Amino acid sequence: MNAETELALARLEEEAEQADRDDPLTAARQRFTIPEGVVYLDGNSLGALPRGAAETIERCVRREWGEGLVGSWNEAGWYELPLRLGDRLAPIVGAEPGHLVVCDTTTLNLYKALGAALSLRRERRVVLVDGGDFPTNLYITRSALAAAPGAPECVELEPGEDPLARIAALGDRLAAVAMSHVSYRTGAMRDLAAVTAAAHRQGALAVWDLCHSAGAMPLELARSGVDFAVGCTYKYLNGGPGAPAWIYVAPCHLAECEQPLAGWMGHASPFDFEPRHRRHPGIRAFLCGTPHIVSMRGVEAGLATFDGIDLAAVREKSMRLGELFRRAVEAARLPRVELACPADPAARGSQVCFRHPRGYAVVQALIEQRVIGDFRAPDVMRFGFAPLYLRHVEALRAARSLIGCVEAEVWRQERFARRADVT
Ligand SMILES: *Cc1c(COP(=O)(O)O)cnc(C)c1O
Repeated sequence: MNAETELALARLEEEAEQADRDDPLTAARQRFTIPEGVVYLDGNSLGALPRGAAETIERCVRREWGEGLVGSWNEAGWYELPLRLGDRLAPIVGAEPGHLVVCDTTTLNLYKALGAALSLRRERRVVLVDGGDFPTNLYITRSALAAAPGAPECVELEPGEDPLARIAALGDRLAAVAMSHVSYRTGAMRDLAAVTAAAHRQGALAVWDLCHSAGAMPLELARSGVDFAVGCTYKYLNGGPGAPAWIYVAPCHLAECEQPLAGWMGHASPFDFEPRHRRHPGIRAFLCGTPHIVSMRGVEAGLATFDGIDLAAVREKSMRLGELFRRAVEAARLPRVELACPADPAARGSQVCFRHPRGYAVVQALIEQRVIGDFRAPDVMRFGFAPLYLRHVEALRAARSLIGCVEAEVWRQERFARRADVT
């Protein structure tokens, strides 16, 4: 590292130390268990373990299941849990209570949301998606469209294309736009309110995936007029591995839309065991089968980490953490390392990413130094900044590790090349 880079890093370190002293969220770190010495920059893939989670899940297993047995569906509130957690999540995403439910996976919930949106726009032939979206979103969208009456067409935005122009061009053929608010790969953030308004101007609906924004920034689903939204709970919401996802339906659509995956838990009266499906009038209609109770207790513990937290402060800290990291890495002018996310923190979510042709090996070398990020093929190294449990000085420590690994070409060591199942 040359003297100029060293000086730049020293200045940024001072800035980070000051930011930690001024941090209004500093106490929130105590709500998590993070292994000593680890800089955890993968909360955008799996949030860290909330301190209360093991106890909440253990109580569910030992007391509710072990002692309460089947009676816990009533006595421990299991039956109501998907709705209760939905109401608890609602203020985090700016939704009204009663319009959000925790269930299934993001993939399945997107299928339901698209089917429901199409049931409200039967005469329209096109759904607009982002061709660079998370692949599961593209796969399930095509499945949902193939199964919908008249099999509407899936039209993909090109990389860098302006969605507003395309929405206007599609005009009254457009049934819905369905895209992610924040890109899983580059962290680039779309203007949710503007895209939603543009869809509405054409009489179309907006279906949003908020996997990479819920819990990382303030959101205003109701005020922005979003029609349907889905997201997962295991990223910034800290719900635990494989925790159930959520789905939001705007109040104006709830009574009218049809959910394409009818199951008994979405029936108006499941324990009447009627042979014909009769949709529940409320958000419960978006449940399919029996809820994943043990995992839901993890979601409960994850949502508790947001008690009393100001999401505007979360966003501010997220931008600051990301900027400290980005500026530090860019100060080193590393060979073959390119910024892969927007340089403007206001234009990205809570992750900073860089490209490197051997990105996977670089990330593995960092993990060995206990700086945990991840890799998205073909060449993106992702670093997620979860403001509830990260310190500003950790952003600098991570940047120093990345600079060291690339400058010394540590990643060339053979053991870093072997791709694991999950990257
Ligand atoms: C994380 C993520 C998913 C994950 O979907 P699952 O059904 O939970 O596996 C889907 N879409 C996006 C955009 C994501 O970021």
